[in-house]
Amino acid sequence: MIRILDKHVSDKIAAGEVVERPLSIVKELVENSIDAGADSLVIEIKQGGKNYIRVSDNGSGIDPKEIELAFTRHGTSKISSEEDLNSIDSLGFRGEALSSIAAVSRVEIISKTLDSTYGTKVKISGGMVNSKDTVGCGEGTNIIITDLFYNTPARLKFMKSDSSESTPIIEFISHVALAYPNIKIRLINNDKMIFSTTGKEDREKIIALLYGKEVSNNLLPINYQDDRVHIEGFVSNLNQSKPNRRYQIYFVNGRVVENKTIQEAIAKAYEDKLILGRHPLVFLFLNVPPEEIDVNIHPNKLQVKFQKEAEVYNALVASVNQAQNTMAAVPKLIPKTFRPGAISFPPQVEIKKEEQTSIRDFLAKARQASNEQGLSQVKEDMEFDKGHYQEKSDAPPKEEPRIGQLSIIGSVFATYILAKDEDCLYLIDQHAAHERIFYEELMKKYGKNEVHQQLLLRPLVVNRPRTLSALSQKIIEEVLKLGFEAEEFGNNTYIVKSIPSHLGLEEAEAFLLEYLDTISPGFDFNNQVQKDQIIMKACKSAIKAKDSLEVEEIRALLVDLDKCENPFNCPHGRPIFVKLSAYDIERLFKRM
Ligand code: ADP
Ligand code: MG
Repeated sequence: MIRILDKHVSDKIAAGEVVERPLSIVKELVENSIDAGADSLVIEIKQGGKNYIRVSDNGSGIDPKEIELAFTRHGTSKISSEEDLNSIDSLGFRGEALSSIAAVSRVEIISKTLDSTYGTKVKISGGMVNSKDTVGCGEGTNIIITDLFYNTPARLKFMKSDSSESTPIIEFISHVALAYPNIKIRLINNDKMIFSTTGKEDREKIIALLYGKEVSNNLLPINYQDDRVHIEGFVSNLNQSKPNRRYQIYFVNGRVVENKTIQEAIAKAYEDKLILGRHPLVFLFLNVPPEEIDVNIHPNKLQVKFQKEAEVYNALVASVNQAQNTMAAVPKLIPKTFRPGAISFPPQVEIKKEEQTSIRDFLAKARQASNEQGLSQVKEDMEFDKGHYQEKSDAPPKEEPRIGQLSIIGSVFATYILAKDEDCLYLIDQHAAHERIFYEELMKKYGKNEVHQQLLLRPLVVNRPRTLSALSQKIIEEVLKLGFEAEEFGNNTYIVKSIPSHLGLEEAEAFLLEYLDTISPGFDFNNQVQKDQIIMKACKSAIKAKDSLEVEEIRALLVDLDKCENPFNCPHGRPIFVKLSAYDIERLFKRM
């Protein structure tokens, strides 16, 4: 027999979708407060929110006559027609939260609007109104939820430990604090204040408050605007990265979201900046026209879909590159946590004898270790660092020093160039720089028929692995796009008549050999990503370790590097530059 479920049961079922755990309640209540225009919020939880959640705001309040309506399913003041769904500019719109919450808990709400003289207090449990009284109170809304899931034992069973429930709540409120720096927020857990914001801080201060100075000191500001996408926020410089994406927080039109397009764009933007397996820290606030996103994908409203995905993707990549490809973004050699007594140059890294391959690895390890250290000393550092943030001050931006114009000091270990500008001493990895130039030269001209070739007086003869016979014609076409003119020469060899003009003969030969070596018999020449990888790899082995460079050679290298799109990382993501600021050096000697 088919029947329509009564309201009581259907509300409970609907509640299951919206209210999964204490976090969902906090999220819905806080979103309601924000939608109500509040600029002051208190969030209080006890026992992970399982027994007690309070959200108080100073927003618009609910009219006494409408309180019951607010707790009715699909009762909403935020949209009224189907068209409204196409451009949602509030956080809520489904009219499901309060009814769902009330169906599975005990609720006490006190609310007062500006127009009414008194406030109204309503108690509801299991969806039924128990009492409604007039009370004296200030404007706004105060909601207390107790005994969550008291009437749905199956759900109650799935509740986790206090801390497993409170951690995501604290995380969520942190995100809200970041997204809404103008709202004063206080978060209290088991009678202890977790954090509070004043509603007057800028985002950078809030990041420092929530994540520590070590994090906030290593961020680059993002500011991007085109005709529809506006992006602001912060991304980490190359001094800090994480082994996971937990520190990547995205907001779209004021809403914390999970979104693949954004995630992929960020990965793309850092692809040639971080080594494999490391992820940047990202705090990004995107705004797109409300009619160009769909937030109505799941009741929890965590997912959004962009109508113009490619535009958002491109805007993100461009905005990160803009911030990242600057001298200010060059990683520092000395960690901010450098402290008296603990002489650490390079910072304390234990390197086993067998791992001591090269000074470059050593420095890389040191740098990485300094990234991992950190948060512990933040408090002291906050005191210490006061007034010393040259790079992040509000002072008008200085003329960005050009790489080609750095003063050259010389080269050390036949591997690193030493150079300086007004503020910093730079170590430049000669080999990585060369690799970057080589790679960009090849890619710039790739397939464009504008490759400058040099005809070889004595053609090169290069062996081709026998296994690649079937791909031979394709290979000849591909290397032609890179600027090599090659022909079959029988017996698994090519004769190479011309090479790209910017390559030396040895480099060209090494490149080709590595290129042929890396291609597998089943290689797919339509896969551009794979093709790039092979080219990158071949570039690396084409660059031979050079002797110490003369000053003129260094100058030429830096000028070429300056012309690159990303002069700061080799194609594999390793840094080309590291720097030591004058201030860092001072710290080193004064042992402050
Ligand atoms: P939605 O937010 O999707 O509209 P809710 O069930 O969360 O649905 O809330 C129902 C209605 O109750 C809202 O549309 C709003 O009018 C009112 N409301 C809820 N919380 C508040 C609040 N803190 N301040 C003012 N009004 C509120
Ligand atoms: Mg709501």
